[in-house]
Amino acid sequence: MRVPEAMKVGMYYNNRDVRVEYMPVPKIDNRDLLIKVKACAICGTDIMEWYRIKKAPMVQGHELTGDIVEIGKDVKGYNIGDRVFATHHVPCDECYDCKRGNGTLCEEFQKGNNFDPGGFSEYVRVTGRSVETGILKLPDNVDYEEGTFVEPLGSVIEGVTLQAGDTVLVLGSGIAGLLNIKFARERGAGKVIATDLSDSRLEAARRFGADYITRAKDCGPEFIREVNDGRLADVVIVSAASKAATEQALQSFDKGGRVIHFATPREGEKTGRDDYANWRTGLIETRTYGATPESCREALELIRSGTVRVDDMITHRLSLEEIGEGFRVASSGEGLKVIIEPNRENAN
Ligand SMILES: [Zn+2]
Ligand SMILES: [Zn+2]
Repeated sequence: MRVPEAMKVGMYYNNRDVRVEYMPVPKIDNRDLLIKVKACAICGTDIMEWYRIKKAPMVQGHELTGDIVEIGKDVKGYNIGDRVFATHHVPCDECYDCKRGNGTLCEEFQKGNNFDPGGFSEYVRVTGRSVETGILKLPDNVDYEEGTFVEPLGSVIEGVTLQAGDTVLVLGSGIAGLLNIKFARERGAGKVIATDLSDSRLEAARRFGADYITRAKDCGPEFIREVNDGRLADVVIVSAASKAATEQALQSFDKGGRVIHFATPREGEKTGRDDYANWRTGLIETRTYGATPESCREALELIRSGTVRVDDMITHRLSLEEIGEGFRVASSGEGLKVIIEPNRENAN
């Protein structure tokens, strides 16, 4: 496979300005891999502009799959042409947090970006520990696009525990919410209730397994009790990055309930909470960020076996030239999963 000298990338300036620019193809070191990117999805965090803009201009993209085209001479276990999923951050497996089984709290995991430059480019260099533990070979029946769901579904697996029969309330029906709905169904949830601001997303929530859907503002305790035999939810998943959703979650759980903060309000935003009111509720709150390699492996297996179907969430497949449109669609909430295919010829 001949690798060119220069490549196209999608350079992020802000959500309305993502430009096709040229960069040299990264040169690999002895312990690196070079991947020809076949598919890279736009993640909900890629369009969190206040969070991303601090580092702009930059090449984003961390939910990627592709073919290995170059292998550093000290790297073992891969072949040219392997179809793979790669993750940009992995735990060190050595530190205090890792040894306690909290890989996503590991400092290396949290700071790591082992992609150069990022998935929205024709080629990406994978470096650091991601080469050792962050590459998964795609089974033959998992295509590149489905493979981009490994990390987002892995994040759900990482953060969500529920018991069969639980009533699950999902606040926010973007991709994270929809994956949570599918996963809750797979884990034997009793009832699933989903909210959103957008009717098209609510429709998607229903299609993918929610029993009840409602506009976020209409999902007060009365509504939940009405559809849930007088009780509030056993598990509440916050999958909308907003203060309102975060506050709503704390009004929506029943005794012994669990609130899982999958998305976060903006930095510095204070939520009003009454901790006294929760004193005798047995509330368990957890927060979740990212997916360890174990969770990614589990996610890939769920996709491979067809246990969790993901291809039905893809609404846009775009070339790199269309990346600006991709960010527009993703940030306006018009589409569900938007996938960029950097090595596809432009359809236009
Ligand atoms: Zn992501
Ligand atoms: Zn660690």
